[in-house]
Amino acid sequence: ALTAGIVGLPNVGKSTLFNAITKAGAEMANYPFATIEPNVGMVEVPDARLARIQELIPADKVVPTTFEFTDIAGIVKGASKGEGLGNKFLENIRQVNAIVHVVRAFDDDDITHVNGVINPLDDIDTINTELVLADLEAVEKRYARVEKMAKSAKDKDAIAEFKVLEQLKPVLEAGKPARSIEWNDDEQKIVRGLFLLTSKPTLYVANVAEDDMANPSQSKYYQQIEKFALADGAEVIGISARAEEEIAEMDDADKAEFMELQGIEEPGLNRLIRSAYHLLDLRTFFTAGGKETRAWTFRAGFKAPQAAGVIHSDFERGFIRAETVAFADLDKYETMKAVKEAGRWRSEGKEYAVQDGDIIEFRFNV
Ligand code: GDP
Repeated sequence: ALTAGIVGLPNVGKSTLFNAITKAGAEMANYPFATIEPNVGMVEVPDARLARIQELIPADKVVPTTFEFTDIAGIVKGASKGEGLGNKFLENIRQVNAIVHVVRAFDDDDITHVNGVINPLDDIDTINTELVLADLEAVEKRYARVEKMAKSAKDKDAIAEFKVLEQLKPVLEAGKPARSIEWNDDEQKIVRGLFLLTSKPTLYVANVAEDDMANPSQSKYYQQIEKFALADGAEVIGISARAEEEIAEMDDADKAEFMELQGIEEPGLNRLIRSAYHLLDLRTFFTAGGKETRAWTFRAGFKAPQAAGVIHSDFERGFIRAETVAFADLDKYETMKAVKEAGRWRSEGKEYAVQDGDIIEFRFNV
């Protein structure tokens, strides 16, 4: 499964956030916990469309789709030189598909900051520098080898890769992430093959004070992080990890009361989950009615048979067609009969690119 790794300096609120995720996930009825690693947190992807589908086409049960976060043990300065748990840290980041970078954006004299002062941009820089240095080392290693192959052997692949390395090197040397370069599709493929840390999609989480949770953008720290993220080609969201941990422990009634008191419409965790989901280019389709109405995760761009394969490999192998209705159409016409009468029911073939919100019934040979 695709996973987003939570990173950040010590004492910024990573464990608190990860606890909130684990607790929110522990509420889930449908996940086999026994198989989860201790540093992996599974959460349901909040999706209001499921309840609406259930209202219109009642099923025995409703099953949301899930998303996985991985807690990555603390980084220290010098990680790229193998200090502390440095190598392990970088190795763990290499395994994840996206980075959720938690930054301290709250004042609290009782909670020590590793550098003694709250300075989000310095904090971000400390971590990003380690990632950039690790990538630079990897790029330099390949550079010399690939240059030789490109120049002497005139190897086509080597020439293409060398072009990419030539662009990467100065950018990394300037301390900038690989994702700040815009690549074409062919280059993108080559970059992916280099398994760089700074080419991973990144989301900054500003861990703001509880007072700022309803309106994070009023925090000066949040504003600094946001400005940086925009220039870095990354997204940012503001949440209070501590409040999220409390919310995750509440029953529904307390949760509703707490959120009203704070003036928020939903837990910040929901926003985090959705942002991370989109960061990974993930989309949702539904199967509806009968035993269960269920949300399924697919990668943007999946064709109908690939999406069928998310449910079962037999569905993909024996794919015939995908009987499809957009959620928006069901929402509007309210019954499948009315959807059909409006001409909005579609029978799609194997070249169909599945869209977010599609409600699909797959036809397949067994
Ligand atoms: P980690 O080292 O990054 O995993 O940080 P922790 O999650 O252990 O948090 C470090 C300390 O900061 C703990 O004492 C937390 O209770 C506290 N903390 C985390 N989030 C917040 C917050 O939003 N506000 C305040 N005041 N303290 C927080």
